[in-house]
Amino acid sequence: MTAALQALEKLRLPLRYDLYVEGQFVKSSSDKTFTCINPAKKTETIARVAEANVEDAKHAIDIARNAFDHNRGNWVTDYKLREKVLFKTGELIRENLNYIALLETLSSGKTIRTSTRADIPRTADIFEYYAGLAGKVHGESFYLRNGDLSAIVKEPVGVVAAIPPWNFPLVIAARKIAPAMAVGCTVVVKPASYTPFTILEVVKIMEKAGLPKGVLNVVTGPGATVGMELVRNPKVDAVTLTGETSTGRMVMQEASSSLKHISLELGGKNPQIVYDDANFEEAVNGVVFGIYYNQGESCGAGSRLLVQDTIHKKFVERVVEKSKRIKVAPGIREDSDMGALISEDQEQKVLEYIKSGKEQGAVLKAGGDKLHEPGLEDGFFVAPTVFDGVTRDMRIFQEEIFGPVLAVTPFKTEEEALELANDSVYGLAAGVWSRDPAKALRTTRGIKAGTVWINTYYLSPVENPWGGYKYSGLGREFGLEALDEFLETKVVYFDTSGAVHKPHERLVIKE
Ligand code: NAD
Repeated sequence: MTAALQALEKLRLPLRYDLYVEGQFVKSSSDKTFTCINPAKKTETIARVAEANVEDAKHAIDIARNAFDHNRGNWVTDYKLREKVLFKTGELIRENLNYIALLETLSSGKTIRTSTRADIPRTADIFEYYAGLAGKVHGESFYLRNGDLSAIVKEPVGVVAAIPPWNFPLVIAARKIAPAMAVGCTVVVKPASYTPFTILEVVKIMEKAGLPKGVLNVVTGPGATVGMELVRNPKVDAVTLTGETSTGRMVMQEASSSLKHISLELGGKNPQIVYDDANFEEAVNGVVFGIYYNQGESCGAGSRLLVQDTIHKKFVERVVEKSKRIKVAPGIREDSDMGALISEDQEQKVLEYIKSGKEQGAVLKAGGDKLHEPGLEDGFFVAPTVFDGVTRDMRIFQEEIFGPVLAVTPFKTEEEALELANDSVYGLAAGVWSRDPAKALRTTRGIKAGTVWINTYYLSPVENPWGGYKYSGLGREFGLEALDEFLETKVVYFDTSGAVHKPHERLVIKE
């Protein structure tokens, strides 16, 4: 039996989680709870979680506001403390990696390999990276022409509302929380309701790492009420949300009444362009990985394959062959390549898109169905699916499916490839496969997307800013740029000159 299955046997389900406010785990004021199920086995309840309401959200905001305004525990001013807490958090996440990975897989359906080898170590990386930056946020100063001194200082924006989605619950929560906390903000997190509790495990770790009370608060509950309160409440200074483009649009509208800072990481319909001079086998692997990683439930999924007509037939055959060999199994199994989709709704949505692909005339080459084999019948499993002959007018070309469905469209020329790639409201990421560096760079330059991978896919280290063009969002996470989302700029003007030309001389008041 694998380590993950052994650990699962020891877990006493359902787990129970409360809200985390002012350094304490507390029940919701209504005492209500909601349940989280295992998407790979829908009859299994894995957790009961406190369901916050608007009053709880208001209270958590007040606590974070107070912690910021009164510099609780010296959080806002003491960068050494912030560095220590964030760094220790990263270290303790690594020490508890297997346990957290197990919970992440149980709630999200993703494979244990993804959780243990990618998501949880990556979460630790994020905390450590931003720990290192806590003491390195500087402005600049210079003398003006008249000899006066300008000091441009950076200050934390204040209270941040962080609203992550369910597909990478911890990685995305961390990439909001860690930079915000590194610069001295206080935070209220509202996790997605399918996957609300791994962040609460991290909070336990953060307490051990020395987190002062009130600096980080977690309210679990519905987006439409609790999330919306965080977006509307004038005591919140910044909102950072990852979710659907429609949610982002609503957030932008609602946050406008109090003119908050907003950063939005939204949907994607990312093209992978394969030229006929690409390394064939590497490109096939990149395309297969690009669509099926995390069950295709990824904003960065390479869901549109644009392949040059000269290799189109052979390339699709190979992709199909590999798609059929993907092992779909409960994520908890070490040999699972692709786990369950998050929910019945998501499964229905994906199956609807498959139906629309068939109806609109795309050619189904692999998959296309829900899987009912023994071991899968209780979960939300859809087969790795490939459609060829996809044209721009089809929904599966234009809309984000968020599942394991690849849409293939052949192209003839570089110009056509670019035109197809940019024929999307989204602009998050793209892949370009070619052995000709000049061609690859010309294509890269023409693509309207926040990230372009050349001869690889999905690599997104914490140092590289991540975010989208067009409907894929606003602002950037990761890298140094993420810090800007949580900073204000203050100019300090210091009169050093005793100068002759004082501005007030422009207004002469007669005695
Ligand atoms: P979602 O929009 O349904 O929800 C995202 C979060 O917003 C959840 O925590 C939800 O509870 C909350 N929310 C929902 N309605 C709200 C409201 N009215 N006010 C405030 N908060 C609200 O998205 P999802 O289904 O959880 O995630 C999938 C989507 O996220 C996909 O579209 C995907 O492309 C996108 N995504 C983008 C990135 C990126 O980096 N660009 C990364 C991952 C996921």
